[in-house]
Amino acid sequence: MSFDVIIVGAGPGGLACAEITSSQGLKTLILERKTIIGKKVCAGGVTWNGLVKKVPIDLFERQFNTQYLFTRSQNVSVSAPTPIIATVNREKLGQQMSYKAQQAGAEIRFGCQVSSITGNMLTFLDKTTRKLEQQKFTYLVGADGSSSLVRRYLGLPAHDIGIGINYQLPGNYPHMQWHLDSVLFSSGYAWVFPHKETVSVGAYVDARVMKAKKLKENLFKWAEKSGYPLAGYKGEAELINFDYRGYHFKNIFLVGDAAGLASGLTGEGIYPAIVSGESVARCIVNPKFNPVELQNMIKNHSRHRRMVSILGKNKFFSTLLAELVTFCLKKKVIRFNAAEMAP
Ligand SMILES: Cc1cc2nc3c(=O)[nH]c(=O)nc-3n(C[C@H](O)[C@H](O)[C@H](O)COP(=O)(O)OP(=O)(O)OC[C@H]3O[C@@H](n4cnc5c(N)ncnc54)[C@H](O)[C@@H]3O)c2cc1C
Repeated sequence: MSFDVIIVGAGPGGLACAEITSSQGLKTLILERKTIIGKKVCAGGVTWNGLVKKVPIDLFERQFNTQYLFTRSQNVSVSAPTPIIATVNREKLGQQMSYKAQQAGAEIRFGCQVSSITGNMLTFLDKTTRKLEQQKFTYLVGADGSSSLVRRYLGLPAHDIGIGINYQLPGNYPHMQWHLDSVLFSSGYAWVFPHKETVSVGAYVDARVMKAKKLKENLFKWAEKSGYPLAGYKGEAELINFDYRGYHFKNIFLVGDAAGLASGLTGEGIYPAIVSGESVARCIVNPKFNPVELQNMIKNHSRHRRMVSILGKNKFFSTLLAELVTFCLKKKVIRFNAAEMAP
């Protein structure tokens, strides 16, 4: 059997893509190696401007009009009349997006790990039957995250990469917080993102300037000082690829983290995954489609990437910028959502 479109990975990028290609009549298959939809190491923060139109509001667990920022010398709160950031449960988001993709006609096969690509043929292992299978495609979409096999098949390296560690603790926490401590996290930060009955506590850093082990050590130092009991809980770490080198390669496309479209500065990747998934689907359906939303987002992505490269070279710059940005936010010279990936 052959498919018009095969998508590797049922994250937000792959699912957004599948909903559109299948609703436009293209025979679409998603292959996902996990058996639980939506499960992903993530703080679940969704920026209001970018995602409010794309994620149903009833999926939001908490919404925050006020953000609390801490640097080495300032404690600042920034408020807006509408929420600045909300939190979502990634499994619920995945369930909702896969339901919509299936309703539109996409076939999703879980527990199927793609192992190789040859010409217009994919080979994958169905972990339930333990059988290797092959499928032909006309278009292939790599939506398979930061360690993408499709990206490797295309011969694209991923040098610019971040790392995030997340702990999901039980409890009801009131405030959304950002800790821009450049001594511990360089140009990255530690976060406190409250969900309904849990809180995501973690840290993000440019992996070129700090290894995962050191990041974990520094996160523990910060958490102990700030009163978050991480010991005894299981943290999870994953890479965040921001090494964008294009999304369209003949009949193969890359979206989301596979394309390196997450922000190198903040680690925001849900919005870039959905926007690139939707845009790629429209390009497949209509090769003359002009993906303006994606192109505008790529401009923000490039700005973020340039900033991270400059900041990573020098701790002094990171400290100075963190203090300056926080001061400007306090004085309302810049708005909090200036750091969003949405234009
Ligand atoms: C600690 C941490 C915190 C984060 N917090 C936030 C946040 O608060 N807000 C935000 O916007 N972003 C956040 N991100 C980033 C965000 O999670 C990602 O950018 C986003 O999930 C990317 O979506 P995607 O669809 O491109 O890829 P993914 O969500 O990674 O989905 C890729 C899918 O492909 C599947 N797959 C991979 N290889 C194969 C294969 N060979 N065969 C079959 N299936 C395969 C995987 O199982 C996975 O389901 C965070 C990331 C980390 C690590």
